[in-house]
Parts: sequence; structure tokens; C-alpha cells
Amino acid sequence: MRLILLGPPGVGKGTQARLIEEHYRIPCISTGDLLREEVAADTALGRYAGSFMEKGDLVPDEAIVEMVRKRIEGPLCRNGYLLDGFPRTLAQAQALEEMLRRHGVEIDLALNLELEEEELVRRLTGRRTCQRCGAIFHVLFHPPQSEGVCDLCGGALVQREDDREEAIRRRLGHYREETAPVIDYYRKQGKLKDISASGSIGEVERKIDRIIRKMLQVP
Ligand code: AMP
Repeated sequence: MRLILLGPPGVGKGTQARLIEEHYRIPCISTGDLLREEVAADTALGRYAGSFMEKGDLVPDEAIVEMVRKRIEGPLCRNGYLLDGFPRTLAQAQALEEMLRRHGVEIDLALNLELEEEELVRRLTGRRTCQRCGAIFHVLFHPPQSEGVCDLCGGALVQREDDREEAIRRRLGHYREETAPVIDYYRKQGKLKDISASGSIGEVERKIDRIIRKMLQVP
């Protein structure tokens, strides 16, 4: 099963991606997480990408496509995967299609999570991420048991540099301009399912689950 999770920043892609990964036992490839690992390890790619990321701008397509290609052609992805945060531009979607065509496979389904912009800003400004394991919390909607400490691994919870208001507005702008055509691209191929992301994490999870089960024809 090859899935794509689309949606604006703050819609809950990362949270839902982790749930799908656990439930269906497919690896999740999150380009945002991969880039943050590169930044933390201070690699050449991390230094290059970091300057775009902290402003809330997109990292250029060639670097992203090459990073994803290495992952999906690796042994862990042989039986499928979930892409989170990729593709984010039409050029990335076309490069992905070309990459998959060479292996004689294609994307099965693109899930498009939707939410109004003010709610996205509310969700993003309250988001806290575990520095150690990447788990996601929210100061109001999903607070940790002990303030500033990850429930899962005890790591420190921090606010991402690009979750500050100015960077958030830029990220949402890029989403409207550059990622909206990606949604049309999969819609035209008949592979897109829209899902309202309002409601609780569990409610959105159940909606996603119903769609995936239908695709897999599981009763
Ligand atoms: P995310 O965690 O998905 O919100 O990604 C964080 C940041 O990483 C984005 O704001 C971009 O700067 C960069 N990034 C992640 N995925 C991509 C992508 N597919 N194309 C370009 N930039 C990306």
C-alpha cells in the first residue's frame, strides 16, 4: 500500500501519520522529520535545508526528491509506505510518479486533510514537539501529563522554530500557492479523498481508517 498524506501545516498530518504507521504497519516517510534529523546532525544537507526551513520556506525540489528516492528504494519500503509532507509541489509529484513508474508501481491513495486557516494557526502556535522522539503535543488540545516533558520518552518538549507566527503565515502561503496544484493532480487521477480534520484526533483517525479499509476492501 502506497499512501500520501496531504494537508496544510498544522492540520494534524504528523499525528495521523504515526497512527496509520502503527495500525497498518507501513513505514512513514516524513520529509519534515528527515530534514530535522539532517539539521540536528549538522550534515551538508541539513545546513543547506535549515536556512529555508527556519524562515518557513520550502526546500528546493532536487534535494527533497533525492532524499525521498533513497528512502523509498530502500529495503524497509518494499511493501509500501506512507508519505507525509511530500510531494509539496507539482514538480515533486511528477518526479515521484516517474520514480515509481521505473519500478512498475503507483500511488494507491492520497488523503487530503482539510481545515480552515485560523484553526491551523491556533493549532500550530500551541504545538510542542519532543526533542528526543518527535512525539507531538498541544498546550491546550493534547497537553502532556507533566508540562514540558514528553509522556512517551521523558524528552524535553519544545516549540519548533517554524511554529512561530511569522513563519506559520509563510508556510500557509506556500501551501496555498504550491501545494494546492498537487491536490488537483491527484484529484484528476481519481486517487484523492478529502477528509475534514476538525474534531478530535480519534475522530479524524476513524475517518481515515474507514477510507483505507474501503480501499483495501476489509469489512
Ligand atoms: P513539516 O514538518 O512537514 O511541516 O516540514 C517542515 C519544513 O521542512 C517545511 O516548512 C519545509 O521548509 C521543509 N519541507 C518538508 N517537506 C518538504 C517538501 N516536500 N518540499 C520542500 N520543503 C519541505
